[in-house]
Amino acid sequence: METAEIARRFLAFFEKNGHTVVPSASLVAEDPTLLLVNAGMVPFKPYFLGQRTPPYTRATSVQKCVRTIDIDEVGKTSRHASFFQMLGNFSFGDYFKEGAIPFAWELLTSSVADGGFGFDPDRMWVTVYLDDDEAETIWREKVGLPADRIQRRGKADNFWSMGVPGPCGPCSEIYFDRGPAYGAEGGPVADENRYLEVWNLVFMQFERGEGSGKEDYPILGELPSKNIDTGMGLERMAAILQGVDNIYETDTLGRILRRAAELTGVAYGDNERSDVSLRVVADHVRTATMLVADGVKPGNEKRGYVLRRILRRSIRNLRLLSGDESFHMHDLTAVAIDAMGDQYPELRADADKIHSVIDAEEKNFADTLRAGTALFNRAAERTRRSGSTEFSGADAFQLHDTYGFPIDLTLEMAAEQGLKVDEETFHQLMQRQREAAKRDAKAKKLGNADISVYARLLETGGPTDFLGYTESEGEARVL
Ligand code: ATP
Ligand code: MG
Ligand code: MG
Ligand code: MG
Repeated sequence: METAEIARRFLAFFEKNGHTVVPSASLVAEDPTLLLVNAGMVPFKPYFLGQRTPPYTRATSVQKCVRTIDIDEVGKTSRHASFFQMLGNFSFGDYFKEGAIPFAWELLTSSVADGGFGFDPDRMWVTVYLDDDEAETIWREKVGLPADRIQRRGKADNFWSMGVPGPCGPCSEIYFDRGPAYGAEGGPVADENRYLEVWNLVFMQFERGEGSGKEDYPILGELPSKNIDTGMGLERMAAILQGVDNIYETDTLGRILRRAAELTGVAYGDNERSDVSLRVVADHVRTATMLVADGVKPGNEKRGYVLRRILRRSIRNLRLLSGDESFHMHDLTAVAIDAMGDQYPELRADADKIHSVIDAEEKNFADTLRAGTALFNRAAERTRRSGSTEFSGADAFQLHDTYGFPIDLTLEMAAEQGLKVDEETFHQLMQRQREAAKRDAKAKKLGNADISVYARLLETGGPTDFLGYTESEGEARVL
């Protein structure tokens, strides 16, 4: 079943069941606390928080999402994309667990001829929150799932919350058993590669209040109006329904992956290292295309930095694969536009604009790399000759300061040569530079107006620092 058809079926099922179909919001979140939309519920947040009254009590959508928190997982696990689409159904004070659980079960297990996905009920597992007996009873009694395929999980996995004070509640996650070829038995608690999480049902049941720490925010009581928020991974559904090993081999991402293999002359399946690179390229080219289409431009902070990092990682991986400095991004972007164009026709209409942004960044990065790579190689060689495996912090700093190498690039390049970067010294030098810049700015009475210093600080302050936000519980918040 094609990805576009999976999305269509999902919406049709919930529309038939009284839900209003709501189009995807832009990846650029309206929500000021978020950099990019990272879940299907984000556009509905004002309804869940009671800040606005929804014009419907049931809604369904296919939402574009970017999760920067998953970037480093891409290509290594079978299930994490940096851009993915979340299929969701939402209830605003309408049905609760007794409605959401049977809906999910019916859609997953009813036959393809009947508009469902035809999953074998015997291969389905679920998790429920530690004390959520109510959900477990519905799974057992209303759905008929055997008790030994229901597992209990704690706060980290199966409890959701949004702000303080704010709504919170238990989740129930649905997993598909891909079989013994993918790992040991024992259910999702034992192995999340074999048991692939496809759908998360969130039950917004309680209100949480202020407390002394994150772990002990007290539950104030039940919400007057309970809500449902669910998220199903479109790419993961496609992997299962198309019988492929991982999301990067599905109909959309697989096309970019195959083209990347052709262009670089590397066969997919040849070895694990180049396979990871090919998957990263397929994923990142698509993410970059979707971000640019939503108006993001490469830059040194916030969303622009996310895009720049994703583009640079694609280009670096292409060079690693091909062993030369050819430019491939234009060709691959064209494939991404075509692969996603049926679902998102605006990609085709904006193709020229998307190409010009991505092509320019590729050229820009090629210049940076050319300038810095010679210095990097000399420093790496010196390190090895001295019998050490530690790339000096001072060299990493110089690469940043003189050639504009972001630290994550130096880290990656060093790791490829089996070297570790002395990050502590690097960060000390960065700190010293920041302080000097501050003193300078004060002396010149510029205060914070020196934007270049600020931008540089954002680019180089380490993974959480430079993005200027932290992510937890699937949410990114501006610090
Ligand atoms: P995982 O535990 O596998 O990282 P998650 O629990 O973080 O997933 P949720 O926040 O529950 O994911 O998101 C809802 C659904 O969205 C998941 O059940 C999954 O199908 C899908 N999903 C989440 N993250 C990704 C991703 N990085 N790539 C593709 N699909 C994803
Ligand atoms: Mg996750
Ligand atoms: Mg999970
Ligand atoms: Mg989940």
